[in-house]
Amino acid sequence: MRILLFDYDGTLAPLVSDTAKVPPSADLMKNLVRLSTHKNTFVYIVSGRDRNNLQELFANPAIGIVAEHGMVVRHPHTTQLEPYFASPPDLSWLPRVHQTMADISAQAPGSRVESKPSGLCFHYRRCCGDTGEHSAQEIRTALERDGTLMAGVEVISGNKVVEARCRGVNKGAMVSRILDKFLLPGEHPHPPNSDHPQDGTSDRTPSFVLCMGDDRTDEDMFAVCNHLSPLAASCSTVIVGPRRPTLARHSLAGCAEALQLVSLLAAVTD
Ligand SMILES: [Mg+2]
Repeated sequence: MRILLFDYDGTLAPLVSDTAKVPPSADLMKNLVRLSTHKNTFVYIVSGRDRNNLQELFANPAIGIVAEHGMVVRHPHTTQLEPYFASPPDLSWLPRVHQTMADISAQAPGSRVESKPSGLCFHYRRCCGDTGEHSAQEIRTALERDGTLMAGVEVISGNKVVEARCRGVNKGAMVSRILDKFLLPGEHPHPPNSDHPQDGTSDRTPSFVLCMGDDRTDEDMFAVCNHLSPLAASCSTVIVGPRRPTLARHSLAGCAEALQLVSLLAAVTD
């Protein structure tokens, strides 16, 4: 069994000022769908993007998606989103954090605040000079000062973005749950490309796991995947982009190389 986990922005798509304008290329879609039709192969896009946007970009149900850093998952060959939390999380902090971000954003031309169903992002890629970094620090400081708020909120600094999201879930937590689904018999729906019997009694141990990402939020899933052994015969964690401290065991120079790898994997025949 092979489980392939890909971050999207910065990994399979270049980082640009307006991420909404970067849909997957026809080639990438073709390769991901082709990969997902390989026998016993399960493909997931694991992203921080909001669920609606990610469902639009990856409408083909052959491809699994994890949105909002692990808040929801759509397993490959299914159409329903499953939430990470059994009961809806407390999101009463959203308006207050939105106000804080919006006030600071108003003083930083080029920045914008993005609302997601379970969090908020302050984007500052288009800010000039140090304005964006200063504003980002101002937001972090303001949120950290608010102790009551911080109890339920986690503040993450990504690539030209500060994100406030529900505490208790991240890409690693959801990836861990996904891998459990394949490891534990009986509960997982059997996609059409599986040769496992319908009674779920077979050995579902992944024989190969590939996990690729480019930023801080991907380190959580690298940590989970690195500790899979000996459950997985082979596990490759790959950082994409400029060298920096990381838990990933392998590296690729950038998106072009990552896309080339996907293309090569898709071309392999079972
Ligand atoms: Mg990324």
